[in-house]
Amino acid sequence: MKKLTMLAIAAVAAYMFTGCAKQDDSLKMITEATFPPYEFLRGQEIAGIDVEICKAVAAKLGKKFQAETVDFDSVIPAVISGKADLAAAGITITEDRKKNVDFSDPYVKTGIVVIYKKSNPFKDKDQLKGKKIGVQAGTTSETFVTDQLKQEPERSKSPAEAVAALKAGRVEFVIADIDPAKNCVKGEADLALSDFITSEEYAVAIRKGQPELLKAINETIAEVKKDGRLAKWIADFTAEADKLKDK
Ligand code: GLN
Repeated sequence: MKKLTMLAIAAVAAYMFTGCAKQDDSLKMITEATFPPYEFLRGQEIAGIDVEICKAVAAKLGKKFQAETVDFDSVIPAVISGKADLAAAGITITEDRKKNVDFSDPYVKTGIVVIYKKSNPFKDKDQLKGKKIGVQAGTTSETFVTDQLKQEPERSKSPAEAVAALKAGRVEFVIADIDPAKNCVKGEADLALSDFITSEEYAVAIRKGQPELLKAINETIAEVKKDGRLAKWIADFTAEADKLKDK
């Protein structure tokens, strides 16, 4: 057998028989853990607001909980293919995504902002035209640049990587969701954030045609909003992610 074929078989086997595979009695969350405070790595563990929401859904369904992190542009494909049950990664509800997945009720109202150097202040959207703009690949910040500004952004794997490019002078501005943006500029005296340039809402995404699962997620979201758990997670994980940044 050719070496490459053997490697491919080994990779598939490893995928099927290791922790990556979904266990039947568990609810598997797929996320992208570079997005504090919604999801970030606490050592090896994936922690954050979205993780708690998905854990609460698993508890409601009496299932074990599993979580895995992949690049953001692989998060939605993972629920479409059935590799995972819940996609939660600060995912904005968009008309385009609605064609491929079902969204839960929203759990946060938010939006994207411009991160800029104080030595090169951001004033308005027109100023972004023709400039090198860093974004995380596959996000609404990317579509803002391609669809509204009609230009190509510089794509990174995470908001932090995009901000590193800004600091190094490889891009002139970065666009990212407000909370990870705040985390990125924390302790960076020369960086600042604009006001919102869009209005967005986060929700959990699942493979289409699962009304029972959707109902369980929506009930969970309503409960954690009402009993104050969501507000507490937002406060606690924001504080924890800020501290990780200080280290
Ligand atoms: N909210 C943005 C989006 O859905 C970014 C999400 C993320 O990078 N995790 O595209």
